[in-house]
Amino acid sequence: MLKIYNKLTNQKEEFIPINPGKVGMYVCGPTVYDHCHLGHGRGYVSMDIIRKYLEYSGYEVRYIMNYTDVGHLVNDAEEGEDKIEKKAKKEKIDPIEIANSYIQSCEEDFEALNIKPATFYPRPTKYIDKMIDFIQRLIEKDFAYQSNGSVYFSVDKFSDYGKLSGRKTDELLAGARIEIDGDKKNPLDFALWIKADENHILKWNSPWSIGYPGWHIECSVMSCDLLGENTFDIHGGGNENAFPHNENEIAQSEALIGERMANYWTLWNMVNTGGSKMGKSLGNATNLKEAIKKYGATAIRLWIVSSHYRSILDYSEAPLLQAEKNLEKISKFINHIQTKISEANPSDDDSTSIDFDYYNEQFKAAMDDDFNTPLALSVFYDLITQTYKLETEDKVTFTDLKNILSFWKRTNEVLGLNFIVAETFTLKKSIGAPEEIIQLAQDRETARRNKDFKEADNLRDKLREKGFEVEDTSEGFKLIKLVSRD
Ligand SMILES: [Zn+2]
Repeated sequence: MLKIYNKLTNQKEEFIPINPGKVGMYVCGPTVYDHCHLGHGRGYVSMDIIRKYLEYSGYEVRYIMNYTDVGHLVNDAEEGEDKIEKKAKKEKIDPIEIANSYIQSCEEDFEALNIKPATFYPRPTKYIDKMIDFIQRLIEKDFAYQSNGSVYFSVDKFSDYGKLSGRKTDELLAGARIEIDGDKKNPLDFALWIKADENHILKWNSPWSIGYPGWHIECSVMSCDLLGENTFDIHGGGNENAFPHNENEIAQSEALIGERMANYWTLWNMVNTGGSKMGKSLGNATNLKEAIKKYGATAIRLWIVSSHYRSILDYSEAPLLQAEKNLEKISKFINHIQTKISEANPSDDDSTSIDFDYYNEQFKAAMDDDFNTPLALSVFYDLITQTYKLETEDKVTFTDLKNILSFWKRTNEVLGLNFIVAETFTLKKSIGAPEEIIQLAQDRETARRNKDFKEADNLRDKLREKGFEVEDTSEGFKLIKLVSRD
């Protein structure tokens, strides 16, 4: 039974989908005014793991992640510059081009980290009409009001305000800066539509003013549009956005649809560096591309899944080097098993020494417990240790080897660790290698015997071009095919 820690109730709850066999999931995406940093990598890998484990468990997942390309103002405020426009002015490029180029950058990183593409990637600039319509309906239902060309959500009208982040409106009011903003009825009211000043680049016509949407409204509108105007299953995001962003999403959506926005809220924790939070606006963010270049995308992914998504993840040299080592350990093991399979004599003997029901249950138990990836990985490390031990006793059977490989393939559908796996072929056991390759290897063997080393080298290069490495052994040649595991 899958249990998910629900931020809405602050406890682990059994996961019950609204529609049997199906899951609707919405994740708040990045604001695309710069390259992704490690905090983004952590967040979106964590959500990818949740999605992939739901799929592993047999659910069909409709996964939505937005790209914020307008409306997110500097310091998450409601006045001042738009983050994307600020960058556009600095680089003297059209804001939409800025957004497009960083979306592309983001997608490159996601692909490198083996994050499965979303079902849809909505963008607010493509949703202006629907946002205006949504805001209009909130005004008609008396949850929002127009003031001097801007539109605000009336927090007083929504009695559940603060339920996700646990903030109480009276405490918020006491702590609120006394804003000199005559447009709002209550200092806690937040903007749905903002009247643009003349310097603003991205602005649209609306019934209230030429302006642009507030940051929060996009997620309510796009989730309603793509997951339906009713409760959906899972809402993901970074916990630093629980307030005000997610809280305001809840207020807008629930005011409109009259029921819960989402049943489960899964929020990832931050990445720490040198003892403090990593963030673009904090100026201490490590660029994701640079980290990938330094450690490799798969080691970064392994570093992320080696920690639970609700724990703070520390960015420093030691855990990343450890991830590199662990990755090597896993890939060496899988390659070793693969080689043993290709060299073994297949037999009808189906005896086994390793109990895979146990390993499957352990993996599932770990992941069912709020996606506990560090525990799930330890199940696999245990299998590695047990296998090597049994090998020294010569007890690993052909069936065990095949079971190890299929257990790994199945669990790695969730973990998503991409690495190179060598498939080996020998002269005796060339089953599976393309005939053309075998021929080239045999020709090379002949050239070598005739001491025509130039020709032999030539043929080795040809094999390499086709993705095969050739090794000479006492029993003749051995071919190693390098294939990407996905
Ligand atoms: Zn959002």
